[in-house]
Amino acid sequence: MSLTEFSIIEKYFHQANKSRRDVVLGVGDDGAVVKVPNGYELVIAMDTLNSGVHFPTNTKPYDIGYKSVAVNLSDLAAMGAEPAWITLSLSMPQAEEKWIKDFSAGVFALLEKYDAQLIGGDTTQGSLSVTVQAHGFVPEGKALQRSGAKPGDAVYVTGSLGGAGLALSQQNVPSPILQKLTHPQPRINVGILLRYIASAAIDISDGLAADLNHILEKSGVGAVVNVEDLPMPAEFKKLDEDQALHLALTAGDDYELCFTVPQSNLDALEKIKEKLDCPVTRIGVVTSLNQLQFQYGDGSEYVIAKKGYQHFSS
Ligand SMILES: [Mg+2]
Repeated sequence: MSLTEFSIIEKYFHQANKSRRDVVLGVGDDGAVVKVPNGYELVIAMDTLNSGVHFPTNTKPYDIGYKSVAVNLSDLAAMGAEPAWITLSLSMPQAEEKWIKDFSAGVFALLEKYDAQLIGGDTTQGSLSVTVQAHGFVPEGKALQRSGAKPGDAVYVTGSLGGAGLALSQQNVPSPILQKLTHPQPRINVGILLRYIASAAIDISDGLAADLNHILEKSGVGAVVNVEDLPMPAEFKKLDEDQALHLALTAGDDYELCFTVPQSNLDALEKIKEKLDCPVTRIGVVTSLNQLQFQYGDGSEYVIAKKGYQHFSS
């Protein structure tokens, strides 16, 4: 890339008026210099989005920028962390000014919402690929993890499930459904409020069945989920039941949180519900059997045809 192209990048990756007090040195040197507040630990997450794999090749640049930040902030949310900074590595076939302008607008839209700052990165020429590393704070020892679920804990999810999956599999879906795919809302506020309430948490990137299983495996427990309690978008009423349930359980990309709450903290969860910016729905219970079971309300079993998306699987 020519110097001119790099100056375009510099122009569009300068975050106007953003200067967090914990950033000693931001974009423009060999490295960034930052401070972690006393009494806090740093949570670091990184995700790559590749064109044609994680988003269709015709995805709008604003949406690619937005989602590359959203999926990383969603990981911070699952850890109970408050976002602080990101670094960004962008590989693209050529530097088109309009594309970069729109892409960076998508990146900064979410950063501004959470008062987070871009503190460094890299741009290279190659196939379109975006890697973001997000950094956030959590009080010492209070990071939510996948490993804390115990038998008897209640299983919850935020928001609704399956919308992003429907938007991926169908053209011309209603706008609220398309938004679930293109502009997922990282559940930062929920994660922070769950620090002292949840026993385990994960964000749902690969489908509820696959991601809840990660909690169960790390915790050495099982769970029973009532499929009639799964929160689904209002538009799902038009689908047949089996398609709706299949999407809600196996489709990825919703970036909702799945978390477990000990019985002793259920009252505390009720008390914070009004402070949350999305609904949370109880969908099941953790068991001591090492398996994940899905049931209808009458106790009969629901069998899923296949698991969530896995990279490198045949
Ligand atoms: Mg995750």
